[in-house]
Amino acid sequence: MLVQISYAIEPTRAVWNINRICDSLEDAKANFEKEFGGQKMYRFISAKQVLELEDTINPICPYCGKEMRDAWELYLNDGDETEVDCPYCEEPYIVQCNVSVSYSTRNLK
Ligand SMILES: [Zn+2]
Repeated sequence: MLVQISYAIEPTRAVWNINRICDSLEDAKANFEKEFGGQKMYRFISAKQVLELEDTINPICPYCGKEMRDAWELYLNDGDETEVDCPYCEEPYIVQCNVSVSYSTRNLK
């Protein structure tokens, strides 16, 4: 899960946003506080989930965040792009297909 963490440096009210990969929003907050808690200049404000749109198992709609589960029906090859209408919110967006290959082996006997 990609989490956007907002924090401020006191005494200014400026807000910074950083994106971190975390297991959960709670994790994001705990890790941030562990990392910066010792330094008084940092103030934690919030952690919120942001949409992960790259290299996902299924295409994720950049508008509503819902997952397209039948992308195999698009018949895309590696690097191919096509425009689709989200089946949930009907917004049009571009799907790019990224193929990676891995191998497994096992003993014959
Ligand atoms: Zn959508």
